[in-house]
Amino acid sequence: MRHVARLLCVSVIALLAACATTTTSDYQPTGKIEVLWLGQAAFRITTMTGKVIVIDPWLTTNPKTPAQYKDLKNLGKVDVVLVTHGHFDHSFNAAELAKLNKVRLYAPPGLKDTLVAIGEIPAELAPGMNKSGIVTPLGPEIKFNMVRAEHSSEFNWKNPATGKAENLPGGEPVGWIIELENGFKIYHMGDTGLFGDMRFIGEFYKPDLVLVPIGGNFTINAQLGAYAVREMIKPKFAIPMHYGTYPILAGKPEDFVKGLGDAPTKVMVLQPGEKATF
Ligand SMILES: [Zn+2]
Repeated sequence: MRHVARLLCVSVIALLAACATTTTSDYQPTGKIEVLWLGQAAFRITTMTGKVIVIDPWLTTNPKTPAQYKDLKNLGKVDVVLVTHGHFDHSFNAAELAKLNKVRLYAPPGLKDTLVAIGEIPAELAPGMNKSGIVTPLGPEIKFNMVRAEHSSEFNWKNPATGKAENLPGGEPVGWIIELENGFKIYHMGDTGLFGDMRFIGEFYKPDLVLVPIGGNFTINAQLGAYAVREMIKPKFAIPMHYGTYPILAGKPEDFVKGLGDAPTKVMVLQPGEKATF
């Protein structure tokens, strides 16, 4: 009996030890969640039930987007389009892609209003929401949370009536926390500078995967991205983005990895057109 008690005790201790160390490695990959990087901040996420989410589609004129995806039809069916802010390298093909698939486009409210006002998208495909809003256009199991980003959101376009370039309101920039069917959470940071509420986002939403800009100049660079991930957000996985498209986006994934030091976050460095599965 004493032997059994000791065995039990050892098991409990082992269990406690296991619990204590499962801060970042306890996610059991399903292999059914697919994250495809299309260059810059554009991603196509396919969920475990086959729903397709596209974020920040700048594809047709993006020099890093693989040729096949410059034809928007080659993305396959798309169920929802998300945009983080008005800059062309995030919003360029968003309205077009939403119209092509007859699906909703979610964007910061000021940008959404501008896109509707200039006739880029019909109002019924661009429902309103704002920061801390949660929408579920694909059913209750998949939640889209709009969160803060530290950036700007001018929307520049060429007015076809006058042929002149115009700078229109694009609202405030945002990031997205996407919670999938099995609870896996993806945080697309958008374009952002460093801000203290990244810690809050880490603590409150507990994202599993962070898509983090590292290019610098317009956003956090590799070192600041590493600081945000290591000290504040603490996800299980990170995929660097928004670098290398132009020489000015000089951040390098190897510096991001170096900056993480011994942080337990697993970094997945993709080439445009490559996928990671979770
Ligand atoms: Zn950008």
